[in-house]
Amino acid sequence: MVKFFSINVPGYEKVIEAIDESAGLHCLIAIHDTRLGPGLGGTRIFPYASREEALDDVLRLSEGMTYKSAISQVGTGGAKAVIFGDSKGKKSKEMLHAYGEVINSLNGEFITAEDVGTTTEEVAIMREVTPYLVGLPIEIGAGDPSPFTAHGVIRGIEATCQHLFGSRSVKGKRVAVQGLGKVGIIVAEQLFWQGAELILSDIDEKKAKEVAKRFHAEVVAPDEIYGVECDIFAPVALGGIINDKTIPMFRCKAIAGATNNQLLEERHGNILSKKGILYAPDFLINSGGLIQVTCEIDPDGYSAKAARDKIDTIYDTLLEIFAKADKEGRSTESVAIEIAKHNIANLIGKRKTHLSLKTPQDNVTHKKTSYTHAKNQ
Ligand code: NAD
Repeated sequence: MVKFFSINVPGYEKVIEAIDESAGLHCLIAIHDTRLGPGLGGTRIFPYASREEALDDVLRLSEGMTYKSAISQVGTGGAKAVIFGDSKGKKSKEMLHAYGEVINSLNGEFITAEDVGTTTEEVAIMREVTPYLVGLPIEIGAGDPSPFTAHGVIRGIEATCQHLFGSRSVKGKRVAVQGLGKVGIIVAEQLFWQGAELILSDIDEKKAKEVAKRFHAEVVAPDEIYGVECDIFAPVALGGIINDKTIPMFRCKAIAGATNNQLLEERHGNILSKKGILYAPDFLINSGGLIQVTCEIDPDGYSAKAARDKIDTIYDTLLEIFAKADKEGRSTESVAIEIAKHNIANLIGKRKTHLSLKTPQDNVTHKKTSYTHAKNQ
């Protein structure tokens, strides 16, 4: 039996906590803003040290999704979910089904996908009890969004090179990649083929060494990546890594990578700009995956080409943001947030079509779950 609690957080439309002890589920879902469409965001599984840490993460991530959706004009709002658990361990079907029921109880206000600690296969298991999922396995959907996210990051790195060096080519540029997971490994491979010089790091040392051998790269220890002298530092691991401790260590000319919530606080974007380090706002450069999953639910049917073409526009949008930030002497982060807020206030990119969620009746039991979300704060 799932127990629900509603948490009142100013500035957020809905925040709920759900616990099902027998299924081993403890999750938090934050719906930040749905003015442009239903709240959409991945579900992260992570061994959070405390409830406060998990709540802080879900709130920050869901707000980031609002800006990402708004700047990409994909007709969705901002939301996110986190589940307490082991990111790498096997997740039980019972827990995934209990979580699916929690999603179902929100009746489409929240649509989710894979994220750090979850896979498209686990999303397929959740789908056995709820239709409110995207990023489905290729047999029934568009597959893992990570390659699309990586493609957007490459476009973003090219825009960064264009702005800094007058050419979009990464050939001969030194790029330090932090994190070699689903996105980072593709980013590293693409950069290798385009002639970049790579410096890699992952907390999984064995994986870092293997990838380095394949792509002629140097490996540094996780703590050393911040101080590597390079043209571009590409964070593709976990958030909050641009902070008071790391900024004095940076010897890069720019930061452009997929990690969500790279800036620990918004003021760190201003510090970077004063230091002369160009920053590609994370919620724009990493929007490729969101663009792909929203193409998956397009009522006209999924087109990988349409997704790729839209992701390619990240290049031009970033160049515009870099130019505006330079002209007005502001941080790139504040310019990007301003564009996102302008789109929300003027309903630019608001969803006009219905969502084409996959609901094959043969293997999905769509129970209309009605739960009361009791208040606990
Ligand atoms: P992942 O879990 O597959 O990979 C993360 C990698 O980072 C792992 O290999 C892990 O060992 C490594 N790592 C963790 N901490 C590290 C550290 N301190 N130093 C070096 N390496 C470290 O995740 P992913 O799907 O590749 O996503 C990476 C980042 O991009 C996340 O912040 C995610 O939220 C963001 N993102 C991903 C997508 C997507 O489509 N997968 C979309 C948008 C944003």
